[in-house]
Amino acid sequence: MTAPMHPAMPKVQETLTNAPMLAAWRAEGALALQRCADCATVVFFPRSVCPHCWSTRLDWFRATGTGRIVSFSVIHRGLPEAFQADAPIVLAEVALAEGVPMIARVAAPDVGAVRSGMAVRLVPRDEAARYPLPTFAPA
Ligand SMILES: [Zn+2]
Repeated sequence: MTAPMHPAMPKVQETLTNAPMLAAWRAEGALALQRCADCATVVFFPRSVCPHCWSTRLDWFRATGTGRIVSFSVIHRGLPEAFQADAPIVLAEVALAEGVPMIARVAAPDVGAVRSGMAVRLVPRDEAARYPLPTFAPA
């Protein structure tokens, strides 16, 4: 009898446009965002054109990695197999300190304590490798 395979994490779809964000997360556990060089709008999700002025001059910068939960869901069932051992998990809209919203997972040790308005920050760098996308924790 063979041991059960560990279920694979879903693969993040990497493109030329989002590659710098994914690389910053993988290498440093950092959140990279774009800022328009022409109108200074901060942009998330990664794009090749500024949604405000249509400039193509979008520069990457390191975000603070902090924000507040706007709203969230606690997901108990229907998760991909790779996440089932972590259930229940929190998926939240996070208002980043840079002024843009981001849908992200919040790794909360006490799911029942999660609230709208709660301050969050990126998980510590040594935990980032567990997550394929930028992930937050209560601040
Ligand atoms: Zn712009």
